[in-house]
Amino acid sequence: MPVFLPFAGCPTRCVFCAQDVQTGQRGGANNIAHALRQAEARLEHEARLLQEATTGGGSAPDSPPTPNAAHDASPSPLEIAFYGGTFTLLPEAERDACLELAHRWRQRGVVCRVRCSTRPDAVTARGLTALRTAGMDCVELGVQSFDDGALDAASRGYAGSVARDACAMVAGAGLELGVQLMPGMPGVTPEVFRADVHAALRPDADGAAPLAAFLRFYPCLVLRGTPLAERWRAGSYAPWPLDTTVDPLADGLLAAWARGVAVVRMGLSPEDGLDDAVLAGPVHPALGQLVKAEALRRHVAMYVARLPGPPVRPGVPRRLRGLLWGHANGLVDAYAAMGITRAMVHWRDDDSFTLE
Ligand code: SF4
Repeated sequence: MPVFLPFAGCPTRCVFCAQDVQTGQRGGANNIAHALRQAEARLEHEARLLQEATTGGGSAPDSPPTPNAAHDASPSPLEIAFYGGTFTLLPEAERDACLELAHRWRQRGVVCRVRCSTRPDAVTARGLTALRTAGMDCVELGVQSFDDGALDAASRGYAGSVARDACAMVAGAGLELGVQLMPGMPGVTPEVFRADVHAALRPDADGAAPLAAFLRFYPCLVLRGTPLAERWRAGSYAPWPLDTTVDPLADGLLAAWARGVAVVRMGLSPEDGLDDAVLAGPVHPALGQLVKAEALRRHVAMYVARLPGPPVRPGVPRRLRGLLWGHANGLVDAYAAMGITRAMVHWRDDDSFTLE
């Protein structure tokens, strides 16, 4: 259950950022009390649903009371996510109000987890430990890049070493770590992005688990009203085209898969009004599917190349049926070039691939 706090606590307005548009919350910055009132109403509704599920009653007669409540009346406890600003730089009273709300509903069994997002230069080991003690489970860092040149080009205001240290601090405080990267941000080339993914998957020593539990890839878009839109109009910034975006994202996804780290989001969520606000950039309604299908194709190609002869009977998990051939069957020809046709594939009921 996202609780959007657009720009709340942010020390600066980042060049690419339009949180009011990205989150669909147009109520203005720092309107935390309003966001918490909406959250409270939604949680009351969820509590009723849970109660009815427990007592075997029907569905609640009233509609979810918040405009963001696009959910299916699931009778499970929720995870609250404080997104859209710099949570760790909120004024103390407002941060405490958020934590108190989460704690109170957790005690009632309506909330099971709490997460927030923040900037890498807005955390301290002490502050994170306090956050953990106050009930926070997960911190997502809007790292965007670990590359000093890119961070400078995007006026992020911190160095790559600060971002690396912040990752270590979050994990060191016993919090789950999520790392958000922004391929195509000013200064982030496909090569820089690939290096960023590897940095986000550190440590990479043999047998060491990555600090990050999950990643998010948000390809940089030019959004109306941002400083980046001015740069784009002036010709000093160009976003990545879609095909330039799929290729490095597929590499990044494969690298994350290889380390057992999920990439839980690729592209901004399609909040109301986002389409109207995008002036330029790699937007596609099925970007995640495009990237996953391409990553899967590369994975299969790697194993096909190891076969002594052409493949005769590839087995693919049935749950990937909608993914294998790519969005709108766009990868059928690429598989044919590997010697794999539709007629040859058999769908498996387990999670294994086989290649004979
Ligand atoms: S700190 Fe994050 S939320 Fe705040 S303006 Fe920058 S990118 Fe947006």
